[in-house]
Parts: sequence; C-alpha cells; structure tokens
Amino acid sequence: MFKALGAISSLLAAHNLSRQAGARSLYSMKFTETARSLLHLFFPHCCVGCGTDVLSNQQILCLPCISQLPVTNFHLYADNPVQQRFRGRLPLIDATSYVYFTKDSMLQEIMHQFKYNNRKNIGTWFGRRIGEALQTSSRFTMPDALIPVPLFDARKRKRGYNQAELLCTGIAEVLELPVWKDVITRTTLTESQTRKNRIQRWQNMEGKFAVMQPATIRGKHLLLVDDVVTTGATLEACGRALLAVGEVKLSIATMAFAIR
Ligand SMILES: [Zn+2]
Repeated sequence: MFKALGAISSLLAAHNLSRQAGARSLYSMKFTETARSLLHLFFPHCCVGCGTDVLSNQQILCLPCISQLPVTNFHLYADNPVQQRFRGRLPLIDATSYVYFTKDSMLQEIMHQFKYNNRKNIGTWFGRRIGEALQTSSRFTMPDALIPVPLFDARKRKRGYNQAELLCTGIAEVLELPVWKDVITRTTLTESQTRKNRIQRWQNMEGKFAVMQPATIRGKHLLLVDDVVTTGATLEACGRALLAVGEVKLSIATMAFAIR
C-alpha cells in the first residue's frame, strides 16, 4: 500500500509540474482530484495544497504552498472589497476575508478538503491566521464575542461539524474571545441557491435564522464568522437577524473571499 501511495505522491508532483507548464487536460484534473483525495484519506498530514508529506502534525500546508496563499490583507484597510460587498445591505463596523477564492486554484482544493473530507484542522489553522491578522491590524475594532454562521441541523449531522465553528475556535485561541455557538440557529433547509439572482436568494434566506438568546448579544459587538463570502446572501440574512435584536454592533470575518 505504501508503494502505491508513494506512486500517487510522485504522480501528483509530476502533475503539479505539468500544471505549472500550462498543460492541464480534463482527464488529468479528474485523475488528480481522485488521487489527492486518496492520499489525504490515508495520510491526513499531507499538504492540502500539493500533497507533499513533509508536514508536522500541526501544519496543513507546506512552506511553498503557504507562500503561494493568495492572502488579501483586507484587515489592513477600510472600505475593502468585503465591506463593499455589504454596502447598502448590512451596516458593519469592519469586515475582512483572509484569502481570495477562485475556481481551479489551490484554495478550491483546500475548501473541498475542509467541507467534504473531514479535514477539521484546516478550519482551526485558518482561524488562527485570521486571529493573528486581526491582532496586528491597528484599524480593526476588537469584538466582544465570535458567532459562527450556523449550519442547518441536518447538514451539520451529515458532515459532523460546522466549518464556521472550527474557524471560530482558531480565532478565539489567538484573540482570547468567547465563541457563542447557540445564540442563533438556522431552521429550514432552503432549496438550491445557485439558479437565483441576489434578491431572490435573499428572500429565500429571509426568516431562516432565529436568535435564541437576544439578551446575551444586546449591547455587544459581534464578529460573525463564515468560511467563504460569495454573494454574501447568507451572511446578510444572519447579520440582519442579529441586528434586529437591537443595540448590536456587527463585523464580519471569513476565511475566503470569492472573486466574481
Ligand atoms: Zn504544499
């Protein structure tokens, strides 16, 4: 078995070289996805970016992959693209995302491993990076508590974890803030969001979040945390429910920002 996995590892390395050279067929993409999933299944300590197995237990990415992460540095400046995405939709104190997300990139593979392959340490690792970024930012206002965007119960049961909660765990480790997992809940599974425009999406999400502990959040500055901002519809609906309690200040932090 180890020989076979060694072969997979070599093939992935060869594939990465051919990708750098610009040669990438659909066949090789599909093959690589399968090979990489197998590799991560047997060797959860392999780099989630390139498959190399030189990592310590605490790491999820090798140094070359870390150096290639498309870091946004949004935490350093006001009116950044995340804030712009919510302008006129949700009043925010601050907003940031740690990395850019594009399709067919290292981030897509990382997100896939995070969502579907039980790689929970991706969440805590990126959470710590977000925490460190916020800690060094002179303009980011420190919140009182972190709130992970809740998943639908059925989805959480199926996956076994909520990615946003894992990100919060990492952020909380660095910033020493409480994580409030139970103040807001998500009630019904909505139909597929993909074929709707933004307004329809928002209407579809509206009323699907319910604040369970309004007294806990009143008068507080909350940092709402999620894995990725795409249209922002989910964060908007969740944020509106929190703000509706009254006397609540809101900021947003996500692991990734999808470029449209
Ligand atoms: Zn790597």
